[in-house]
Amino acid sequence: MKISFIGAGSMAEAMISGMLEKRIVKAGDIRAHNRTNKKRLRTLEQKYGIRAADGLDQLFEGPDAVILAVKPKDAPDVLESVRPLISPDTLLVSVAAGITIPFIENKIGRHIPVARAMPNTSAKVGLSATGIAFNIAATKQHRHRAFAIFSAVGMTTAVKEEQLDAVTGLSGSGPAYIYYIAEALQQSAAEIGLDAQTAKQFILQTIIGAAEMLKTSAEPPEALRKAVTSPNGTTEAAIRVLDEREVKQAFIDCVKAAAKRANELS
Ligand code: NAD
Repeated sequence: MKISFIGAGSMAEAMISGMLEKRIVKAGDIRAHNRTNKKRLRTLEQKYGIRAADGLDQLFEGPDAVILAVKPKDAPDVLESVRPLISPDTLLVSVAAGITIPFIENKIGRHIPVARAMPNTSAKVGLSATGIAFNIAATKQHRHRAFAIFSAVGMTTAVKEEQLDAVTGLSGSGPAYIYYIAEALQQSAAEIGLDAQTAKQFILQTIIGAAEMLKTSAEPPEALRKAVTSPNGTTEAAIRVLDEREVKQAFIDCVKAAAKRANELS
């Protein structure tokens, strides 16, 4: 595959590094253009061996996919410039939050295959949860191409475009929810007599262990939680506090707020 990136920021780097590691593309077949920070582009060129492009036109010399990885506010202008350059053989992949497929089609035409994806920051460690939607022009082959790209940075699932707001609320912003729990656990450790370094190791392994249990067990989360909770025991005392403070409801409301905001931004 030949892949071009418009925008060489942190999401582009995560994807470049993942694709090279998984060997789905050769470094020399990746081109990137970054308008506002040329130094960053040179750094990526040296670090990964990709080819830096001075202008947008160089990105459109026969690529299989062009990935739009600029901030949403910059996307409309970029799409405007892409219109005369892109051909129907090239898949346009957008990771720009809130930029919808109809908006993209409006800018570049409905005959161009488009994939709109919502990855998350865990793409940096190859563990993104990515939701992806396609326009009508995208064929089975284009879909395979997009799945190959995002599978290099984690798990990828096709959804309807209208479900991408829900994906944003759940997994797009999701890493922050887990960091929030980690922050609270870290703070609690100080108050119950554990130093920060020791606490960090215990918190990390607890999160990884619970995630692995969720992944490998056939039981739903509630059953796993109940299995840890013996009558009159420590976990029961802990969960009682969470229930009294309605923490579960707060999380439900938090995901809904993120999904609502994603919808407002699109
Ligand atoms: P970033 O700011 O790190 O990178 C964007 C880059 O685009 C910058 O380096 C900027 O110089 C460049 N740029 C701006 N205008 C340009 C233009 N006209 N031509 C070429 N380059 C241009 O941003 P990021 O965190 O990598 O996010 C990129 C996109 O990915 C955003 O739209 C964001 O919504 C989406 N996204 C990011 C994450 C994430 O975890 N970072 C998750 C999901 C979606």
